[in-house]
Amino acid sequence: MAGVVVVFDFDKTIIDVDSNNWVVDGLGATELFDRLLPTMPWNTLIDTLMGELHAQGRTLRDVADVLRIAPIDPHVVAAIRAAHSLGCDLKVLSDANRFFIETVLDHHGLRGCFSEINTNPSHVDADGRLRIAPHHDFHATPHDCGLGTCPPNMCKGQVLHRIRASVTAEDGARKRFIYLGDGSGDYCPSLRLAREDFMMPRKGYPVWDLICENPGLLQAEVHPWSDSKGVIDKKLPHFT
Ligand SMILES: [Mg+2]
Ligand SMILES: [Zn+2]
Repeated sequence: MAGVVVVFDFDKTIIDVDSNNWVVDGLGATELFDRLLPTMPWNTLIDTLMGELHAQGRTLRDVADVLRIAPIDPHVVAAIRAAHSLGCDLKVLSDANRFFIETVLDHHGLRGCFSEINTNPSHVDADGRLRIAPHHDFHATPHDCGLGTCPPNMCKGQVLHRIRASVTAEDGARKRFIYLGDGSGDYCPSLRLAREDFMMPRKGYPVWDLICENPGLLQAEVHPWSDSKGVIDKKLPHFT
């Protein structure tokens, strides 16, 4: 429906796994990943791993092939298509990266359902290696979100604030937001939703646990979803 903006997290929300872990495991880099994990921020680590895999002869096509077989719940696909066909404005807000997300959405024919992908930028360099950069340049301009659940490269609450400002500026009308996510990084934006908005946390996942610790902190109505019973494709269109 026009006037409703639906914001989707990507990892463990649109797809059923974490795309970074899926690619790392699928290309046999799990051991290296575990070794490097304590030494650098997550976002920097994935960029570094892409360099290591490239040096080992893995191509961008290998990365894409692994992403195309990442599991995706048909109920989630149905929910996305239904919300889009009802006229909602769908956006991705993810701490993965543009290449991973576009590869998956293209493969499932879903990219056209989304008006915007907010994530860590990526590009392919002259050698054919995938480079991944942080969404916020945290060395030059830290995002200064004091919540503690936002990684240094992305405060989703601040990005959500920017999205709301930009969609409101388009026609001046206030929009209802619906936010779907699973991770601790989805907690900050849930606190920024307004009374007329809906927060849809994935039940049993970190953002659900954080919300349950102190439900009074959220202004938005909370409607959990789970993958097991196809709740999402019935609930989401109902709210729009
Ligand atoms: Mg997630
Ligand atoms: Zn934040």
